[in-house]
Amino acid sequence: MSQNNGYPFGFLDEYAKKEVRRSVLKAIALPGYQVPYSSREMPMGRGFGTGGLQLTLALIGPGEVLKVIDQGSDDSVNAVNLRSFVELTCPGIATTAKTEEASLIQSRHRIPEKALNDRQLLVLQVPYPDPLSVVEPSEDRRKAMHGEADYARLLVKLYEDIVKFKEITISHRYPTRINGHYIIDPSPIPRFDVPKLHQSAALALLGAGREKKIYAVPPYTDAVPIAFDDIPFRIEDFNDDQGRRRTCQRCGCQTSYLDEFIDSTSGEKLYQCSDIDWCNDQLTATQHLEEVDI
Ligand SMILES: [Zn+2]
Repeated sequence: MSQNNGYPFGFLDEYAKKEVRRSVLKAIALPGYQVPYSSREMPMGRGFGTGGLQLTLALIGPGEVLKVIDQGSDDSVNAVNLRSFVELTCPGIATTAKTEEASLIQSRHRIPEKALNDRQLLVLQVPYPDPLSVVEPSEDRRKAMHGEADYARLLVKLYEDIVKFKEITISHRYPTRINGHYIIDPSPIPRFDVPKLHQSAALALLGAGREKKIYAVPPYTDAVPIAFDDIPFRIEDFNDDQGRRRTCQRCGCQTSYLDEFIDSTSGEKLYQCSDIDWCNDQLTATQHLEEVDI
C-alpha cells in the first residue's frame, strides 16, 4: 500500500474500496439498479460530492488521468477541492482539464460536450438517487415499484405538468429508463445532457454518498428519457425571440449548452458555453482558421 501524507492510497481503506468495486460490478450487471453500499465518512460534508469521490478513489490507479468539473468548469471551488483531495491521497495520478486526455472524469451537473470514448469513465455526483421519491415516501414500496417497473405514478406526475404548464417542466434530474427497465435519476444534469448517456461508449457510474447508493449506465446501453407518444422529450433549445439559436459570445459555438450571464455594465444578457474546455477548443479552432485565412 502506497503511503502519502499518512493516508493510504485513495484515502479509503482497502476493505471500503473493495466494497465500492463490488457494488460497481453489481450496478453494471443490473443497469440502472440502485445498489446500496455503506458510504464511508469523508473529510467533507455529505452533499459535496462524497458519493462521486468514493467511486473515484476506489477506481483510480497510478498512471490514470483525472478531470474534475463542476457545472462544466474545472476551476469552481467544488471541483478544485475534490481534485486537490484526490491528488493529495493518490500519488502517481495526473490531472487534466482536457476532456480527451482524461481516463476518469468526475462531474457535477454536466456531461462534457465532447463525446466520450470506451477508454473513459464518467463518474457523476448524485444528491437524490431515486426518481420515485417525489411520488412515494416509503423506500420499501419504491423498491417493489422499481422491481416491477411500475412507474405509472411517475408518468402521472409528468402528465400533471402537461395539464398545468402544457409541457414537461423538469429541467434537471430528468427520469430516464435504462436498458428498458429501471428508471434512474441521472443526477442534476440538464435535459440537454441526458441523450449523451444513450448508447454512450463510456461507462457512467453514479454515486450518492448521503443516500448510500451506486448505479450505472453501462457502455452501449439504452438510456431513454420518459415521455409520451404525443409529448416527446425535448432538450433546451436556446433560441431567441426570433427563433434563432443563440451562440456563445466567446467562441461562437451554436451547438453547446449555454450559461446565461448579465453584463454588469450594460445589463445585457450574454451567453457562453458552460463547458469551458469545449469553449477553449472552439476558440482555438476559430483562431487557427483565421490564421490560415490570412
Ligand atoms: Zn464557447
